[in-house]
Amino acid sequence: MNQAIFFDKDGVINPLVERENGDMTSPWHIKEFKYLPNVIESFQNIKKYNYFTFIVTNQPSLAIGEMSLENWYDMMNDMHAWLRPNRISYESDRNGVRYKPSNLMLEELIEEFNIDRNKSFMVGDRWRDIVAGHRSSLNTILVGNTEPYIHDIKPHHVVKDIKEEILGYGHPLLTFSHPRDIVIRKSKYKCARTLMIGANKSANDLDRKLIKLLQNPKTQLNMKLIVND
Ligand SMILES: [Mg+2]
Repeated sequence: MNQAIFFDKDGVINPLVERENGDMTSPWHIKEFKYLPNVIESFQNIKKYNYFTFIVTNQPSLAIGEMSLENWYDMMNDMHAWLRPNRISYESDRNGVRYKPSNLMLEELIEEFNIDRNKSFMVGDRWRDIVAGHRSSLNTILVGNTEPYIHDIKPHHVVKDIKEEILGYGHPLLTFSHPRDIVIRKSKYKCARTLMIGANKSANDLDRKLIKLLQNPKTQLNMKLIVND
């Protein structure tokens, strides 16, 4: 069996677009379509771990004529070019049987690609995505902060995408020999725990929202080290 990650589109892959009346909607034109930070890189990484990737999206703007089919195809072509998902499934009819929170789009893909539900994930920013994933017995991940999540069915994981970038320097005297601890220092002090010196941020400079999240023992922190010479 295969493992897969199913992604909602709007608010997950691309930001929503604010209209003149204040409404937040999907992009209706390729000119309004942008990728959220880290999305393209994330898709590339996911592929390396042998996950199928699917985009499963409601597109009501298509049915009511806010977006033309031609513009929608432009966006799909762009996603195929940059993200290379195995399939993009969509439903534009709000009353359609495949419209999320229906899990029919998920079920079609699970069957066709022989997907192992226990090892697979549904990623979305709305209750409709989480409920659809739950109905298909997938692991569910709520991302983004587009609206408060109010539903009895809770996601397995909640990811608030807060990113901090810290720049610093290495040194020939750094040993990286401490078995457990790493310390990023603004100072030039070097010891077995020191990861880098002369950093541009201390703990006090980090986003307070990140600190709040890290106070929860269930929060997972992903740290990436990039070394430039
Ligand atoms: Mg969405």
